[in-house]
Amino acid sequence: MNEVRLASARKASNDRAPRILVVEDEASLGLLLVYNLEAEGFQVEHVERGDDAEMRLAEAVPDLVILDWMLPGVSGLEICRRLRARDDTKTMPIIMLTARGEESERVRGLSVGADDYVVKPFSAPELMARVRALLRRARPERVASRLVAGDIDLDRETRRAKRSERELHLGPTEFRLLEFLMEKPGRVFSRAQLLDSVWGLSAEIDERTVDVHVGRLRKALIRGREKDPIRTVRGTGYSFDETFGRS
Ligand code: CA
Repeated sequence: MNEVRLASARKASNDRAPRILVVEDEASLGLLLVYNLEAEGFQVEHVERGDDAEMRLAEAVPDLVILDWMLPGVSGLEICRRLRARDDTKTMPIIMLTARGEESERVRGLSVGADDYVVKPFSAPELMARVRALLRRARPERVASRLVAGDIDLDRETRRAKRSERELHLGPTEFRLLEFLMEKPGRVFSRAQLLDSVWGLSAEIDERTVDVHVGRLRKALIRGREKDPIRTVRGTGYSFDETFGRS
């Protein structure tokens, strides 16, 4: 298990792996899902209660959620409904899980906006195939190959970034950091959130590491009197200035 975790974390640090939240109160099934998803190279988080899932989803939006129907705290159905009402999770892929005998609820599940619906017991490869299919379908609109803000132009395919036609010499971490911040301009991320999203290894790295890499990123980005696109929010963290390039 540890080796699998390590391997997927490494994979994620090479190219930010899709993040999947598993909400399942059956401990053994939750573990099985985490194991299989990590083996596929995904970054996985697992919570067992509906209310914990809501807390987690308020902090960060994953690329996909696997949501059990019957949960302690808040039901999967209710979570799904609430996610669909939120702007930033309206189109996030959701797979609902349900026990045999609840199939009649299928229509209700799809009517509150689940993208797919899987009846237990299911085979792990079957679920993995559905996860991959949903992520592929979701990707085109979620992932533009280029991010442009003002005079900064980041190309995800070639992994290169430019400012005013000047090639930026960024290390892989600085590149991912810039990419992540540019994806959500104006949104402020704490150091812990950045470690979690950009490094994918929150527990093992000191939060000051983030400051070091933001410093390097700024050094590469800014020449002379060029404007700093990254905003330091005292006591909180960092964000990509949403007004950058607009004035
Ligand atoms: Ca359950």
